Amino acid sequence: MTTNSHLLELQHIHMIYTTGQRQFPAVQDVNLVVDEGEFVALLGPSGCGKSTLLRIITGLQAPTEGQVLYRGQPLHGVNPYATIVFQSFALFPWLTVQQNVEVALKARGVPPQPRSLRAIDLLDRVGLDGFETAYPRELSGGMRQKVGFARAMAVEPELLCLDEPFSALDVLSADALRGELLELWLGGGIPTRAILMVTHNIEEAVFMADRIVVMEKDPGRVVADLPVNLPHPRHHKGSEFLAVVDRVYATLAGQTEPEHVEMGTAPGEPGRTRALPLVTVNELAAVLEHLADVPHHRADIYRLADDLKINSDHLLRLTEAAELLGFATVAQGDISLTPLGETFAAASIVARKEIFATRIRRLPLFRWLLAMLAAADNHQIEADVAQTALGLDFPPPEAERQIETAVGWGRYAELLAYDDRHGVIYLEPGGVR
Ligand code: ADP
Repeated sequence: MTTNSHLLELQHIHMIYTTGQRQFPAVQDVNLVVDEGEFVALLGPSGCGKSTLLRIITGLQAPTEGQVLYRGQPLHGVNPYATIVFQSFALFPWLTVQQNVEVALKARGVPPQPRSLRAIDLLDRVGLDGFETAYPRELSGGMRQKVGFARAMAVEPELLCLDEPFSALDVLSADALRGELLELWLGGGIPTRAILMVTHNIEEAVFMADRIVVMEKDPGRVVADLPVNLPHPRHHKGSEFLAVVDRVYATLAGQTEPEHVEMGTAPGEPGRTRALPLVTVNELAAVLEHLADVPHHRADIYRLADDLKINSDHLLRLTEAAELLGFATVAQGDISLTPLGETFAAASIVARKEIFATRIRRLPLFRWLLAMLAAADNHQIEADVAQTALGLDFPPPEAERQIETAVGWGRYAELLAYDDRHGVIYLEPGGVR
């Protein structure tokens, strides 16, 4: 059987979380193969189910449906061949660096002498020689994460799972640690057979991985599996590197749905309610104005993040909003203003508000909110009520953010008003139609 040759295989994995009455599909039909020798990055926006998948792969959590095969065998319970390194260092503060590494070995019944030798050796390999007797609080974030790696590697996992391992570190420590991990991995300095790294950092994924599995959310699913055929060491500024980064951006920014933007259905209707990208009008206007200023009104999304000093996750939300509202199109990692986007960027405040109002009225979630207000006594409802009404389509914190965003957009467009003191949303006269 071919499945025997895969180190890890996910078959039709679904994960549905149940909170109260609600069932929330966090992961939908994920199929994924990881072979020996591969470094795979799992990339996607917050909430697309990356951590959920890691917990399923390591056996910390069972999927609602589907099967995990490890070396061709169905996984039941915790996977003894896999270890996770989390972004928060999760060290025991009362133990020394060396004891923190030994803990994992002790749990596996390794006697004191070899245990201690192995810990010292590992600490040396991750560059912590001389810090064996230090306590975690005496170390920098980068050093603590190295202890985390040493501890994970102490048990010689075949499959090393990394959950955003560098995201809590400052830029310099993160860079250094990425380099060191790659050196260990590529130089065969660790017995690990494959690495699966969750990240939402595109450059990090392109810098380190052999393959990038791109996920989308609502529901969490795999939308692309992109090979990264670049030799190591990779250089962030190289043109081939940037070309791969662009390709990943293009995939994430909805290259997969180019011509017509999928609007989704209204809450309560059958079908998928499309979430509003959580951005403010001011942020969106800033991006459109910037594009209006550059040649051809077109920019490379990756550079745009740099130029505007916006993190890539958030910039993707902004490009999604621009596309959803018809102000821009995205193709091959570039974002271009549409004629409407150009008009918006050049317009006066009043004209902008009008344009914005006509655009957001088309969004099903907005139509739903306006209709609910139009039908309500005095054309007003409490924000909490609107939030609860959205509860069938989104989990509570997301419903709250959706209403917040909708109200922010609606106020700008002067379709809605909001009374902060009483938490009440009002329909403006212009909002009735
Ligand atoms: P990511 O790691 O990509 O940010 P997660 O796997 O943490 O995504 O979460 C995916 C979705 O599932 C999110 O919408 C999150 O709110 C939801 N979720 C995660 N864990 C639980 C849980 N235990 N109960 C209910 N919902 C959850």
